[in-house]
Amino acid sequence: MSPSPLTFEVEQSTTPKADAEREQILANPGFGKTFTDHMVLATWMPDQGWHDGRVTAYGPIQLMPSAAVLHYAQEIFEGLKAYRHEDGSIWSFRPEANAQRMIRSAHRLALPELPEDDFIESIRQLVTVDQAWVPPAGTGETSLYLRPFMFASEAFLGVREAHEVTYSVIASPAGAYFAGGVKPVNLWLATEFARAGDGGTGAAKCGGNYASSLAAQQQGAAHDCQQVVFLDSSTHTYIEELGGMNLFFVYKDGRVVTPALTGSILEGVTRSSILELSKEMGLAPEERRIEIAEWKDGVASGEITEVFACGTAAVVTPVGELRWDGGSTPAPASTETTMAIRERLLDVQYGRVADTHGWMTRLV
Ligand SMILES: *Cc1c(COP(=O)(O)O)cnc(C)c1O
Repeated sequence: MSPSPLTFEVEQSTTPKADAEREQILANPGFGKTFTDHMVLATWMPDQGWHDGRVTAYGPIQLMPSAAVLHYAQEIFEGLKAYRHEDGSIWSFRPEANAQRMIRSAHRLALPELPEDDFIESIRQLVTVDQAWVPPAGTGETSLYLRPFMFASEAFLGVREAHEVTYSVIASPAGAYFAGGVKPVNLWLATEFARAGDGGTGAAKCGGNYASSLAAQQQGAAHDCQQVVFLDSSTHTYIEELGGMNLFFVYKDGRVVTPALTGSILEGVTRSSILELSKEMGLAPEERRIEIAEWKDGVASGEITEVFACGTAAVVTPVGELRWDGGSTPAPASTETTMAIRERLLDVQYGRVADTHGWMTRLV
């Protein structure tokens, strides 16, 4: 039905940022604050499929107040990065995994599939036009963060899947996620709220999951915690993940354990890459259910030596204390394996070691 492949007409911005201003932004980009000169747009309708693909000037999207997304949250997104290598070329990490996940998210949210090739072409087009916005190599951990997203733009308040859907990609230069260097984050254990339940949307990357995590996030912030740990919603026993990152536990015997995908956990590309890399590093990765008691007891006994969180934006982050209403578990003893896994992943992404998995796709 879609005229495949989707093509993207390039309409150059008439008001791009001056070189000096862009370079000033790239010198200290922060995260998610500034956006490049262009964006991708495409439209889907049942009878026409995907059409009207464009790379156009970054700017407001016009929507009717009745646009379904504003009422019923029919929206999904992705997050990946473009990395500049030493020779100036620009690459992305496993973009086909993001494309496939967006297809799975689309199924869950009753949105149309955007084929993998069209997804990759859309980011290639945007990064080509805005390549000057990909920070230079050798500046640490800088990249261009890419945010593809899709939402119900149809002006209709009836409750059904939308018959007009907009796809867009925006891009934002990103510095090292942790301004003062990598240091352990303290986590708040949500005991009152869940982010996802059986049969819900936890395995889909949708805005609604984030909306439902924010109240717990506020409680965590009030206790000086940067992120929240969510448990399974039916028994409040098993560790699931953070609001936007997966969790790993390192045991003193070399096991590296992450919660199994139960249907309410988001399958991170970083998570699955770490399962592969840790094997090659002589560790023993394991996917299984983990009780919250195992975290508390394991850190106390020294059985668990490290805890870390992972996701595209922050890569790999050591976890410090776990806090909850009325108690806390101290920070694990070490961050050594965590930092080694982090370096290994960054080495692949920045082209500092051979890409033995075929994970890298050249964009420019
Ligand atoms: C995006 C996301 C992650 C991390 O996924 P990556 O593909 O590794 O970036 C983990 N949990 C949730 C809830 C997410 O939305």
